[in-house]
Amino acid sequence: MSKLFEDFKEYLNRMNQYGHVCTLLYWDMKTAAPKLGQAAHVEALTHFSSESFAMSTSEELGGMLDSLAGPEEFEELTDTWKFIVKRMKKDFDRNRRIPGELYRTFVKAQAESGNAWEEAKEAADFSVFAPHLQKMIDLTREITGYTDPGKEIYDALLDQYEEGMDSATIDRLFGELKKELIPLVQAIFAKDQPENQAFSRYFDPDAQKKVQDMLLSYIGFRRDAGSVGETEHPFTLNFSSKDVRVTNHYYENDPLSAIFSAIHEGGHGIFEQNVNPQYDNTRAGSCDYMGLHESQSRFYENILGRNKNFWIPIYDKLGELLPPFREISLEDFYREINHVKNSFIRVNADEVTYCFHIILRYEMEKAIFRDQVPVEELPALWNQKMQEYLQITPANDAEGILQDMHWSDGSFGYFPSYLLGSIYDGMFLDALRKELGDVDVLLKEGRIGEITRWLNEKIHWYGSTRKPKEVISAVCGREISAEPLIRYFKEKYTEIYGL
Ligand SMILES: [Zn+2]
Repeated sequence: MSKLFEDFKEYLNRMNQYGHVCTLLYWDMKTAAPKLGQAAHVEALTHFSSESFAMSTSEELGGMLDSLAGPEEFEELTDTWKFIVKRMKKDFDRNRRIPGELYRTFVKAQAESGNAWEEAKEAADFSVFAPHLQKMIDLTREITGYTDPGKEIYDALLDQYEEGMDSATIDRLFGELKKELIPLVQAIFAKDQPENQAFSRYFDPDAQKKVQDMLLSYIGFRRDAGSVGETEHPFTLNFSSKDVRVTNHYYENDPLSAIFSAIHEGGHGIFEQNVNPQYDNTRAGSCDYMGLHESQSRFYENILGRNKNFWIPIYDKLGELLPPFREISLEDFYREINHVKNSFIRVNADEVTYCFHIILRYEMEKAIFRDQVPVEELPALWNQKMQEYLQITPANDAEGILQDMHWSDGSFGYFPSYLLGSIYDGMFLDALRKELGDVDVLLKEGRIGEITRWLNEKIHWYGSTRKPKEVISAVCGREISAEPLIRYFKEKYTEIYGL
């Protein structure tokens, strides 16, 4: 090992200490710190993340990366370290192109925009948020001009969240989905769908927590390398493969929310716990492709968790832990968790109509960045698309364009990754069937561990070292396509609804 490489690793180690503290502060703020204690946490977090940012953009690091990427040193590195150096150099060059003043303006505007969005949502009044949204759009344009000069802006934004993905590919995939799913959903809506009141009675939140524990260990989330917290919105956070944390929110009159969030976040968590531990605390670890990450949480939540066979080995246990379920048959439960209905809110949508919620947002983002549609016209455009895809019109902006926080913090280009995750899932399901046999049988026999191991070996182990397209090609041996997902929807819902 050269002296330079040793110094570089030592530098990374110091940087990681800041990262570790930031993660810990964030976790504590979200799960434990009292309201009056938040301000001090924000101050500490700002301090440590500025230190961390300074280290990641320092001349010292730049010099080391230049030398390591140079002809003499680079060939001496292992493949993993070649990946890490290349990736860090790319991040470094990118971050360094953003003028400091512009970056500070962005961070400040982001905080103001977040507050304005909350206020606007509370008042169901888009006009409160509109000037801030305009500012976030303008600043995003400006920053992208520095980070990705010469690249079409919306493609540059998509690439940030799902590397290698562009709008030409997404247009093709989403186009196929639209063509096939609109008639499918219309046929489902034409069927009689009575509401089942059994799911809106009281479900003890403490018992829901026990159900969550049971589900997490059932799907393979390891408790010696993972823990659980309670937050307003569920999320997953990780320090390394050895410390992964998931959160949940428990509603007294809706047990399904916490059940499926537990499985969803558990899927994110299983991914992180099973990345090659040698990648811990480096850019090779922790998967940072949002679509690929979402494919794993959604695979557990939808492909497995909304399959009747998933519940056969554990349904009695569910009734033991949460007694109201003793009075609900597995058949009724299965229908309820696959109830397709047109609804306004994305996060409450079923797995089929969810696709339209994302397609709508993707088309809105293209309208903003490609067609320059003025901000004031966006709510009307939203409502028009809602009518087109789901035949409903929001009563106000809170249940329409203001429902998600993503645009308020400038996360333009993020939404499509949710649906890309589902599209990948259709493909992974095909590959898994080919190699392990019928998934229904595996689930019915309680052999979910075999599925988890397959995902661990084929996908999780590689962390960030394989880009989404490389994973698809390695696991599925074919180009990305929406056909398997469409086929999965058609088969499943034709049976459920007797179409
Ligand atoms: Zn997720």
